[in-house]
Amino acid sequence: MEGVIMRPQAVFFVGAPGSGKDTQAGFLIEEFGFIQVPSSKLILAKFAQNPDDPVVQEEKRKFDAGELNSGPFVAEIMMEFVRPIAAQGRGLIFSGSPRTVFEAEVEVPEMVKVYGADSVLVINLVIPDEVASQRIASRRLCRAHNHPIPATPEFANITKCPKDGSELYVRDLDDPGKTGTRFSEYRKLTEPTLDIFRANGVPIFLIDASQSIQAIHQEVVAALERRATSAPRQ
Ligand SMILES: [Zn+2]
Repeated sequence: MEGVIMRPQAVFFVGAPGSGKDTQAGFLIEEFGFIQVPSSKLILAKFAQNPDDPVVQEEKRKFDAGELNSGPFVAEIMMEFVRPIAAQGRGLIFSGSPRTVFEAEVEVPEMVKVYGADSVLVINLVIPDEVASQRIASRRLCRAHNHPIPATPEFANITKCPKDGSELYVRDLDDPGKTGTRFSEYRKLTEPTLDIFRANGVPIFLIDASQSIQAIHQEVVAALERRATSAPRQ
């Protein structure tokens, strides 16, 4: 199995807030050595670098309000991070980008060019809004590394991060008041990015994200294997 996934792939997780993108990305990082593009962290670093730039200030205002950042702004930040890693032949995971068609129009063709058309895929985690809202309201992260602690029964009694023992907190972005905005922005702005992937010949694997975490993970690995064996290397 591991031999099949040795070929570097670029995996895009697309799904509504609360669909479990980061949890599933975490498994792939641990098991197969993928590198995750830390979208939010890269954007926050950009804010910190240029706090007096009016463009940056407007993007920061959007970010703090739970709105989506503008496409070209995010795409350039992402590609700066991606290019050197892709050049080393490492597998990459996107779980927070592209969030808009603008971003996708820059990122997707670049990734297809860098990784080869047969090594890029989308995992679309599909979940009803009600189920996702419930999960978001009770999801926690750890202080040390932002490891996500899913709001599922097996984690209900945990008070410290199982990986590093650090304290847990609820992310400000996960505040229920901002959740409605995040869902409508996902439907209106992020879901249409699937058309850009299709237009670039990237296959989309649909997975029911209301299943258990392990069941989803098994389907994710099966999708990666199918992608790795479905087309000859270019
Ligand atoms: Zn942790």
